[in-house]
Amino acid sequence: MTQPRPESPVAGKVFPSPNHGERKDGPPDMIILHYTGMPDTGEALQWLCNPISDVSAHYFVFEDGRVLQLVPERRRAWHAGVAGWQKDRDINSRSIGIEIANPGHDGGLPPFPEAQIDAVIALCRDIAERWRIMPERILAHSDVAPGRKQDPGERFPWQALHTAGIGHWVSPEPIIDGRYFVRGEEGQPIEALQAMFAMYGYPLSIDGVFGAQTEAVVAAFQRHFRQARVDGVADASTITTLRNLIRSRPGGPS
Ligand SMILES: [Zn+2]
Repeated sequence: MTQPRPESPVAGKVFPSPNHGERKDGPPDMIILHYTGMPDTGEALQWLCNPISDVSAHYFVFEDGRVLQLVPERRRAWHAGVAGWQKDRDINSRSIGIEIANPGHDGGLPPFPEAQIDAVIALCRDIAERWRIMPERILAHSDVAPGRKQDPGERFPWQALHTAGIGHWVSPEPIIDGRYFVRGEEGQPIEALQAMFAMYGYPLSIDGVFGAQTEAVVAAFQRHFRQARVDGVADASTITTLRNLIRSRPGGPS
């Protein structure tokens, strides 16, 4: 399975991981971004290549911008776990996974160096062009697994990616006082709120109950699209930002 050359010109070399299988639904049409969440970058890389870990990703981006390819793009890497987006539930089969070296929330969530983000942008651009991946299908691990995952976190510069032509994004609405929804509320407005998140793609059931699942989805949305406050409260800024995103999505609202 070792490839002599990386498929992306952005990657310097192949550093093969044995952790992959066959894709089940045809070619990839998503890119999922992760942070490694480990204090030591070398250990994180070794873990993704260790047969006992059962985890991997297609690409690994170091802090200084160097990129390695771990898994061939046509193969199914094991990075997303239990996850969902729109109608898809086997996100590993649908996606290319990129691990970005960063110690994560447990390590104080240090900022991503510019050289690293430049490499992520170049890599996403190359992959998206070759596989014709839509901007709104370039997502965080936390978007597709909101109850379980927080990566790459609320300090990841999605706006900078969007400015460089990568991903779907709108300027977040300012945080203001007004009506908001929190965990514990029930009823038709909660159902409408859940329907909006599901329309954009978030995996949640539309049951009219603002429980743990809805709170996790609101927080995941905020980590990506309204980073100034990540609290799981569906405030006016969060809801309007979501509405603006749905309206501005290529293909438009349905
Ligand atoms: Zn992840």
